[in-house]
Amino acid sequence: MEGLVLYNTRTRSKQAFAPIEAGHARLYTCGPTVYAAPHIGNLRSNLFADLLKRALQLEGLRVTQVINVTDVGHLTDDADAGEDKIEQAAARSGKSVAEIADLYTAQWLADRERTQCLPPEVICKATDHIDEQIEMVRILEAKGYSYRIDDGIYFDTARFPGYADFARLNLEGQESGARIGDVPGKRNPSDFALWKFPDPDGGKRLQEWDSPWGRGFPGWHLECSAMSSKYLGEQFDIHTGGVDHIAVHHSNEIAQSECCYDVHPWVAFWLHNEFLDLRGEKMSKSKGNVTVLDDLIAAGYPALAFRYFFLQAHYRQQQVFSDEAMEAAATGYDRLVGVAAEVRDADGDIDPAKLTPFRERFQQAVRDDLNAPRALATAWEVARSGDLAPAECWALLREFDAFLGLDLEHAEPRRSASESDPRIDALVEQRQAARAAKDFAESDRIRDELAAEGVVIEDTPDGPRWRRA
Ligand code: AMP
Ligand code: ZN
Repeated sequence: MEGLVLYNTRTRSKQAFAPIEAGHARLYTCGPTVYAAPHIGNLRSNLFADLLKRALQLEGLRVTQVINVTDVGHLTDDADAGEDKIEQAAARSGKSVAEIADLYTAQWLADRERTQCLPPEVICKATDHIDEQIEMVRILEAKGYSYRIDDGIYFDTARFPGYADFARLNLEGQESGARIGDVPGKRNPSDFALWKFPDPDGGKRLQEWDSPWGRGFPGWHLECSAMSSKYLGEQFDIHTGGVDHIAVHHSNEIAQSECCYDVHPWVAFWLHNEFLDLRGEKMSKSKGNVTVLDDLIAAGYPALAFRYFFLQAHYRQQQVFSDEAMEAAATGYDRLVGVAAEVRDADGDIDPAKLTPFRERFQQAVRDDLNAPRALATAWEVARSGDLAPAECWALLREFDAFLGLDLEHAEPRRSASESDPRIDALVEQRQAARAAKDFAESDRIRDELAAEGVVIEDTPDGPRWRRA
């Protein structure tokens, strides 16, 4: 395969990627709403965007990645009614809005770092960009795309004929009022808020600003349009987010941006990750069925074992999280790290011809819409190959880790050295005792019994140690 091919939601097809500006890919990633701890489903969307960034870098491109932090305007029903999620969290906890936002932003950043997500070039907060958002509404108003109702300034989607295209929406099927949280006075069910006025029955809001239309706050979708274009230009290459964003958030971003800047397409490639599910349901903060990275760490897993788990599914497949699947991923990760630790200091000649087929297979997997499971399988072919010398094996694994991000250069296997299992410990003790008593028939019998279940005993100067083969 020649070059990187990505599945573009906009065209519903796989397309060869070429940046608008030669040598430079501009990437915007919809980031967290910082009202609760990010869960491992949210982390999946970060890890997916990180894989994309790494794949772009492997193509030799400079990447500018912008990720936003939503700290105002995201309402509880994702449309334009309900409470502001951050204000609600602040009221419940007795903390200030800034304390809530800072707390969960810090957790999000820590989770990203622990799972080796490369730092974005720009992190931008919605509340730091109120002027840019007001300016966008002003332009849309001047061009006649907006109207005013009691609730706020709304975007008139009937003025943007392509509105339904992106999400392949059937607008005829959407009756006014049919959508939860619909707002009285809207002209079309799909119209959305650009600027919201505080709810007169809702008590005083904690975050509001002056604007040409009176005090209020920006609609949730506006921040992504205003900030992406501020940092990446009025047209750019790639926009990412979870599949839940296609129908509302991203359709709205496109409508307001294309009308404001008179461009089409505003963004060339749209990439969306599928959900991480728990027991048949999307993991979600509002449903409360969440696992956070700290839960996994408390259970004894290295953070990167979760990255390994993530790599086992393609980003466009739903992935199911379970304790068993996590345990299996942790074992797989530990074994791969075990191989890396054995070969990483190896000296010796490298025969480039032996590396080429593996390298090509790996590159093909990455270039085929970031096929992480196939890339990981190729890393395992290398790890298991009897034909490669240790130095050759390491040369490939180190190279592959630029995409996989599993810290194969430094990570240490945990289980082989420190694994404990009282039954196996006891058998190893028994074997030691048999050897000390020169009962070699018995010591060999125990060794064979353990070997049959995949446990290898190594006799070291400090005594016997065991590991799973
Ligand atoms: P939020 O903080 O809720 O605004 O979500 C941040 C990102 O995580 C968005 O791109 C969502 O689409 C994504 N997301 C939320 N829940 C999940 C999930 N269970 N699996 C994968 N991605 C998710
Ligand atoms: Zn967004």
